[in-house]
Order: sequence, then C-alpha cells, then structure tokens
Amino acid sequence: MSACIELNQVGKTYAGVTALDELSLTIERGEIVGLLGHNGAGKTTTIKLILGVIAPTRGSVTVLGYSPRGKQSKSLRLQWGYLPESVGFYEQLTGREVLEYFARLKRIDRARVRQLLEQFTLAQAADRRVKTYSKGMRQRLGLAQALLSSPKLLLLDEPTVGLDPIATRDFFLTLDELRRQGTTIVLSSHVLPGIEQHVDRVAILDSGRLRAWGTLDDLRREAALPLTIRARGNWPDGFDPDHLPHAGISSYQYADNTLTLTIKREKKLTIMRELLADKGIEDIDVQAPSLETLYTYYNNGGDTGHA
Ligand code: ATP
Repeated sequence: MSACIELNQVGKTYAGVTALDELSLTIERGEIVGLLGHNGAGKTTTIKLILGVIAPTRGSVTVLGYSPRGKQSKSLRLQWGYLPESVGFYEQLTGREVLEYFARLKRIDRARVRQLLEQFTLAQAADRRVKTYSKGMRQRLGLAQALLSSPKLLLLDEPTVGLDPIATRDFFLTLDELRRQGTTIVLSSHVLPGIEQHVDRVAILDSGRLRAWGTLDDLRREAALPLTIRARGNWPDGFDPDHLPHAGISSYQYADNTLTLTIKREKKLTIMRELLADKGIEDIDVQAPSLETLYTYYNNGGDTGHA
C-alpha cells in the first residue's frame, strides 16, 4: 500500500518569496506527524500543498496515492479532514447548527452530528450560539467538523494555539484515540509543550527548509546532545567528587543529597555502572534532551549555542 502523503523535492515560491525549498517527506498511514517551525517556516504552505489548495512551483505531492490537484481531488476531499489555523464559524448559529450545515454539504446524516457533539463534550452547549463558546469549545467544534466524514487523514494547522494546558492535554488524548482507530494525523505547531509524547515523528522546518525529520529517538541519536543524570544518595560526609568517573562528564553539581551530571551520550553506560557501584546511591534518573532542546539545536543549524 502506498504512503499516506509523499512530498518529493517540493518547492513553493510566492512572487519571489521562497516559502518552501526542496521538501521531501514520506508520511506513512496511521502515524501522527508534527510539522514544527517558527512563524514563516513554511508549515501552512506545506498543509495547503497537501490539500491541493495551492500548486507546488517544483516537485510533486501525492496524497493517498493521488495528486491532490488531479482528477481524484473530489474523492480525496471526502477522505481528509482539515482544521485551519483560525477557524471562522457563523457566530449566530449554534454548535449543532454549524455541524448540521457542514454535514448537509457532505451528505452525512444527523446521527453523526449527535455522536460528535457527545464525543467532544459539546452536547450540553449544542444549542447555544457559537459566539458564546470559549476558545477550547471552538477548537473542539472545529475538530468535530473536521471529523464529520470519519476521515483517514486529518490535517491540523496550529490546533493548540490559545488552548490552556488541560485543554491541550485533552486535545492530544483525542488525537491518540484517533490514531488508535487508524487515522493519519499531520499537525503543524510552533507551540511545543505537550506534543512530545503524542507524535510518532517530527519534521522541523526553518525558512522553508527541512532541518530535521524522524522520531525523537532518531533526532536524539543524530544530534548526540548531552544527557543529564540525576542521582540521589545518602552520603553522610557529603559527596566526594573524586569518586566520579573521570571521562565523559561535562559538568557536575551536588546539592540536597542529589548529584546532577551532564554527560556525553556515548558514556552513559560506563558512567551509570560506576555510579551504581557507589554504596551511597539510592536512585538514578537519566533525562534525554527534550523536544524543546532538539528544536533549538536544529533551528540553530545543529549548534548547541554553547561555546
Ligand atoms: P505561521 O506559524 O506564522 O503560520 P508558517 O510556518 O505557517 O508560519 P507559511 O504561512 O507557510 O509559514 O509562510 C511561509 C513563507 O511564505 C513566509 O515567509 C510567508 O510570508 C510567505 N507566504 C505565505 N503565503 C504567501 C502569499 N500568499 N504570498 C506571499 N508570501 C507568502
């Protein structure tokens, strides 16, 4: 079976502005992919190219085996759901009326509307006008609208902007559930907190170029950034730094019975073994670089910013 989305050396230029340059990505069916980048990185342009709203200046785009601007575009449209960056609703309509309006356009029956209102905890507010909805409720309504046709592919442009941490968490739990049901999800974002545990792979874009692409583990291996080890222990006379392994530690701090070490990734096992041999050690925790750290690293062209 073909991939869900294939972008092959795609470039997009708007009147002299290069929005995307040589972008190649293959997104498999059933994965959640995060398209990450600062403002102007090319995220919305990528989503519009996948939707076939705009044509690439160079390269090719294939979605579910077809060109999104070809003869199959009409049937493709029924297989994807799209949540734009700023969702505009008819404010005077109720949530139920909004969904019923789109359901009629897509020839979807009203039972699906009722089901989605329940699923997105909007049933109680279904008969209130949208103008009275909070940001989180609007976002849930937008997602319900994108899911009306039970799409195989869901494209979400900056879906968590303006959501509070609880609404963001709930939003990602919904995406996890959709993935379990086999939906492929592409979400663009410049808001990183909360994403890490929910994406299978990330693409980091900067000024229209792909800076990194892979699972977080792939990116961590490739970047080879330092790891942090926190070791708690019981050393009645204080910790003697002479007991630390001599190679691979870039920095060390000791406070409140806790030793914090920054270490070279490749020395992890050697250093762990030596620490575990210390009789005072009670607990050890290893922290890999976070998505935020990786994002900064790749946006700086693979530089940690430290001298
Ligand atoms: P944001 O997070 O701000 O939405 P983005 O990563 O989605 O940014 P794009 O909207 O894809 O970025 O824009 C990429 C580049 O292309 C930017 O420099 C933008 O100014 C430019 N651009 C986008 N659309 C047009 C257009 N219609 N005409 C001219 N330039 C455009």
